[in-house]
Amino acid sequence: MQLTIYNTLTRKKELFVPLMEDPNYKGPKKDFVWLYSCGPTVYSLPHFGNVRASFTADLIRNVLKNIMGYKMISMTNFTDVGHLAGDGDTGEEKMEKAAKTEWVTAWDLAKKYEQIFRDFFKWMQIDDFDIMPRATEHIQEQIDLVKTLEAKWYTYIIPDDGVYMDTSKIDDYGKLLGPNYKKHLEWIQAGERVQLWWKKNITDFALWKFHVGEGKRDMEWESPRGVGFPGRHAECSAMSCKYLGNQFDIHHGGYDLIPIHHTNEIAQSECAFDVHPRVKYWMHHQFVNMNGKKMSKSDGNIVSPYEVLEKGYAYLDIRYFFFTTHYRSFFDFTWDSMEVARHSRDNLIKKMQKLFDTHNQILVDISHITSYEILKEKITDKYVGDALEDMMAALMDDLNTPQLIAILHQSLNSLDKVEEVDMKELFIALYRLEKNLLKVGLFDRIGQEAEKIEIPSDIIQLAEQRIQAKNAKDYQLADQLRDQIQDAGYKMQDTKDGYELIKI
Ligand SMILES: [Zn+2]
Repeated sequence: MQLTIYNTLTRKKELFVPLMEDPNYKGPKKDFVWLYSCGPTVYSLPHFGNVRASFTADLIRNVLKNIMGYKMISMTNFTDVGHLAGDGDTGEEKMEKAAKTEWVTAWDLAKKYEQIFRDFFKWMQIDDFDIMPRATEHIQEQIDLVKTLEAKWYTYIIPDDGVYMDTSKIDDYGKLLGPNYKKHLEWIQAGERVQLWWKKNITDFALWKFHVGEGKRDMEWESPRGVGFPGRHAECSAMSCKYLGNQFDIHHGGYDLIPIHHTNEIAQSECAFDVHPRVKYWMHHQFVNMNGKKMSKSDGNIVSPYEVLEKGYAYLDIRYFFFTTHYRSFFDFTWDSMEVARHSRDNLIKKMQKLFDTHNQILVDISHITSYEILKEKITDKYVGDALEDMMAALMDDLNTPQLIAILHQSLNSLDKVEEVDMKELFIALYRLEKNLLKVGLFDRIGQEAEKIEIPSDIIQLAEQRIQAKNAKDYQLADQLRDQIQDAGYKMQDTKDGYELIKI
């Protein structure tokens, strides 16, 4: 299977070749595919934009890890340090302002909302990422980044303001804006971003902001240039470098981050770490709309995910709804389409329930098999094999999940028209798809049997040990382990490329 993804950096769909397999990559050896996704600022309840961001990062991770079978490290962050509301390094500071309205410190505010975000994502079936650092725990790394840039003469100081990056010293500043980025920058010069008379260039940005004025902020730190707090873009560069290295495979975030946050992240990282490009693939998901217009608090055109849940929808209805829109298309929320999503998910679950009842199947959990290439070899039934292949082809085409969902419905709907289908194989394929990617409750109403078919990890471990024993020709131990598995209620069958565990 070959995955193509749309790379914002080149504005093209490209074949995904991870750094570890890329002949042009000259850096230190990579053992994993590395993914970084910009995380939420934790100062208020999750909104649809946050939820879509985490859903998309999770989708990218699951496809690479569970479908393609790559070993990977995924990372996202919690922005728990306050930044200024305006993109021009001005405006009010979000975190401190929100803390005052809730009568708590900025620290307590961040702690509270981080937990709320974590719980929300758990209910959305978004597993934790491998690395989830907080910005406030990486202030030293951000100070070090500023120091490196200072030593290379990329910075200047504005008294009573901060340390700034001089973007005129970077030849390809703004390259994430597309092949015509120079033109785009001219428009910016012509007034798209607010000019501040004290900045040398309109595109220069703060790396470190000084504490100015009376009183003490809740969140401020000592630095060689004075007490203050990091600029808005520093944390992602500093933390991704610490955990993923100077160069990594995929950086993901929302479309709105392209012109400033990600553009500046590239500028400071490539100058500090001397790597070009720092990130091989930039992936961005499109905005969330409501009734065709950008969801926005100030316009009153907004619905919170909590309102959706209060109206009786489930977390998994929201999750399913996301699958029905391509990540690069606007996700347009309307109450009607929310209802369609619920109905459609419900339909799928009912169909599965009916099929399961009529065919009295025993499910085989093969979710521990790590890639679809291996699964495909197990499927001998043409109908199931073709359906699976079509679904995978959709997914490999820049993660076309709406197409995958359409094929899933279609395959179940046209089952009656096919003379004979190996139902066991159909359930194997769908069960794995559900467990490793969809997680929309497809098997929820299948009843007690479904509960039992989850193969516990200790049984899988015994099976692995038995394979090892067999390979080492220790047949006595292998037989002993087989009996142990049988005693625990599972049958282990050897197959061409491994084994199968069946609940007896
Ligand atoms: Zn970021």
